[in-house]
Amino acid sequence: MIDLLVAGSGPAGAATAIRAALAGLSVAVVEPRSAPIDKACGEGIAHSAVDYLSRLGVKLDGRPFYGIRYLDGQHQVDARFHAGPGLGVRRTTLHQGLMDRLADLGVEVVQGRVTAVTQNGTSVTAAGRTARYLVAADGLHSPLRRQLGLGTSPSGDVRRGLRQHFFVRPWTDLVEVYWSGLGEAYVTPVADDLVGVAILTSARGTFNSHLDAFPSLRRRLSGARPAHTVMGAGPLRQRVRGRVAGRVLLVGDAAGYVDALTGEGIAVALRTSAELVECVLKDRPDDYETAWRRVSWECRLLTGSLLWARNRSLLAPRIVPAAALLPGVYATIVNRLS
Ligand SMILES: Cc1cc2nc3c(=O)[nH]c(=O)nc-3n(C[C@H](O)[C@H](O)[C@H](O)COP(=O)(O)OP(=O)(O)OC[C@H]3O[C@@H](n4cnc5c(N)ncnc54)[C@H](O)[C@@H]3O)c2cc1C
Repeated sequence: MIDLLVAGSGPAGAATAIRAALAGLSVAVVEPRSAPIDKACGEGIAHSAVDYLSRLGVKLDGRPFYGIRYLDGQHQVDARFHAGPGLGVRRTTLHQGLMDRLADLGVEVVQGRVTAVTQNGTSVTAAGRTARYLVAADGLHSPLRRQLGLGTSPSGDVRRGLRQHFFVRPWTDLVEVYWSGLGEAYVTPVADDLVGVAILTSARGTFNSHLDAFPSLRRRLSGARPAHTVMGAGPLRQRVRGRVAGRVLLVGDAAGYVDALTGEGIAVALRTSAELVECVLKDRPDDYETAWRRVSWECRLLTGSLLWARNRSLLAPRIVPAAALLPGVYATIVNRLS
């Protein structure tokens, strides 16, 4: 019997496995897809997360960004980071970096899918392995969360994300967020000749048709060759009843997700994965729910509040003007999330 079986090798699962291995636990990861895995993502990694990954020994190649710029048709406001830059990193690069570190540490990554889970008072068995604990890091639509009855049905406006890359020299060292009535378009420089654009919206349509809602961004991208295929994800909001079911612990998007509006998913996944490993080390799985809430509440509150305003037709058009009018408040919020 090993200490920890991890379902999913995304940032949450891989970081949990790395941290656990560094702490001396025996770990295996089960992942159905082949590395390096791509995913619809804005690909902006917050400074705190870059710092944490470096402490885990994960090597990343990307393009630093130094703050966040909000824009609508008439206003533009910049907030620069105080603590240090974030990093724009292709998801495939991030995944390969995580896989390389797992390999360095001798963590076994098994190709397969965790389906049925059985557990008793001392162990949990899944994918033919028995472990003291199972970590469900199987993403936004977590099949394990569903199986354990911890998910709830989506309600309200359903938002989704679509992402496309373009071969173009980045025109700024900030992540830009273009706001329109349709939604938001995030532009993250990820290499010297490549930017990623992620559009978040509740409207139906193609990436290309959505881009019409952001005329100044469309002008910026005119003539730029699209790279890779468009990828999508959603519904983004995932409400979860709890993060612990006996010896199974949920982490990352599987543990619940508000929205990609503040680009914090990876940072929260890493922060909570560190707490999860602490709880396993202490053999106190029930402490994890409180720890998860403690380290994720601020981000959930800020993202939830912004999303609430975004979904109000009277407030939404005032978000960028308000940020431009109160740049100090805007910068404080951006820095709380960095
Ligand atoms: C449009 C968009 C833009 C975003 N932009 C940003 C951003 O700029 N910055 C940021 O920090 N975050 C961003 N996020 C959020 C970020 O992508 C996620 O929070 C992050 O990927 C969560 O990692 P994870 O490991 O929980 O899930 P995932 O990365 O989805 O990994 C889950 C893994 O589980 C595997 N899996 C699935 N089922 C099983 C199974 N049954 N058994 C075993 N394995 C299984 C999958 O194959 C996958 O590899 C964005 C999200 C979206 C949708």
